[in-house]
Amino acid sequence: MICPRCEFENQPESLFCTECGQRLERSKPAPPEPPPPGPDIAPHIGPTQEPPLPRNHPLGLASFILGIVGVILWLLSVGFAIYLFLSAFGGGYDGENFEVIAIVVPTLALLTNLAGLVLGIVATTQQALRKGHAIAGICVNGLSLATFLMLLLALYVSD
Ligand SMILES: [Zn+2]
Repeated sequence: MICPRCEFENQPESLFCTECGQRLERSKPAPPEPPPPGPDIAPHIGPTQEPPLPRNHPLGLASFILGIVGVILWLLSVGFAIYLFLSAFGGGYDGENFEVIAIVVPTLALLTNLAGLVLGIVATTQQALRKGHAIAGICVNGLSLATFLMLLLALYVSD
């Protein structure tokens, strides 16, 4: 029995070290192992891993861009209408390219907003992707369509 304090070799049955008086421990069964620490008290090793943020749906982004393009086309149409209204007094406009400007541009705006609205709705049906752009696209396209459908309705009623 080796003394843990002075390393003197005592008799195996000794209770105390004959050299220094240190109490000699019999070899006891190993104490039960402590339970493994739970995840809550586990020490953090390195930075915590955040799950990657889901991407915005590309169709949602396309919907948003189409909505902006549609609004710009509508504004061009309104600008042209204002120009026609003002030039009616001065006679400055000779009617050149009237069909192109007065029909094609609003039609393009209508189709652009309709396509954007459809893309936005499709994008919101896709799971596990952020819907910010899609919702913004639906709002822009929907508001643009609603505004100009009401404007057309007002023009139709006033005629
Ligand atoms: Zn000792």
